[in-house]
Amino acid sequence: MTLLAAEGLTKRFGGVVAANGVSFALEPGEMLAMIGPNGAGKSTTFNMVGGQLRPDAGRVTLAGQDVTNTPPRALCRLGVGRSFQVAQTFLSFTVVGNVQMALIAHQRQTRQMLSDAAALHRDAALALLDRVGMAAQADRPIGELAYGDVKRVELAIALAGAPRLLLMDEPTAGMAPSERAALMALVAGIARRERIGVLFTEHDMDSVFAHADRILVLVRGEIIARGSPEDVRADPEVQRVYLGQ
Ligand code: ADP
Ligand code: MG
Repeated sequence: MTLLAAEGLTKRFGGVVAANGVSFALEPGEMLAMIGPNGAGKSTTFNMVGGQLRPDAGRVTLAGQDVTNTPPRALCRLGVGRSFQVAQTFLSFTVVGNVQMALIAHQRQTRQMLSDAAALHRDAALALLDRVGMAAQADRPIGELAYGDVKRVELAIALAGAPRLLLMDEPTAGMAPSERAALMALVAGIARRERIGVLFTEHDMDSVFAHADRILVLVRGEIIARGSPEDVRADPEVQRVYLGQ
């Protein structure tokens, strides 16, 4: 069954139509990239799917269930995860401690229990770190890690909620190109093996074309092209409007 469907998502900000009838579907295990110039409406679309923005029109369904306007916390319980930011991790805590806290948060316990985090869920947290190749660094403070490794831990934190859909709006922002490619390769491997659907944006076109199964090209709030990386790369409209060729 289709994991995520967006139908006719539309959002206006004053006179700007940030998204205009955006429709797409995402299957389990699929890497779907949304690309387009700055201001194209990518984040607006993400935020409507992720429940942070209320669409003016359109519908979002998750495995057939209408989730339009469902708040992020409720979406999380339905299996929608998102990429986290560095600021949301706790730099003085260990790598494994951060993941244990994420596991606890997903059990809807309170932040007052953070002091107990070290004793809880260590094995589960280590298993998550193993999935992102970070188990060997479990007991280092997260603040000591290289930026690319922090991003891997953040992926483990996103996986702590056992998502079936991951929303990643520019997950590699601030990373060096080689680190970007490595993180996207990691995400793609996990998505395919574990049948998690991933909707992502990424500025590095090499990573997009290497790791997306399908690509949506958004320009001024509208999808102007969609298809496999090969089809999108060859599309004359994409070359003219977006790739500047
Ligand atoms: P992208 O993520 O593709 O760069 P955005 O979705 O952030 O594009 O923005 C699409 C358009 O909507 C832009 O013209 C932007 O200025 C406008 N926009 C986005 N968010 C807001 C907002 N909260 N208020 C007003 N205008 C916004
Ligand atoms: Mg954006």
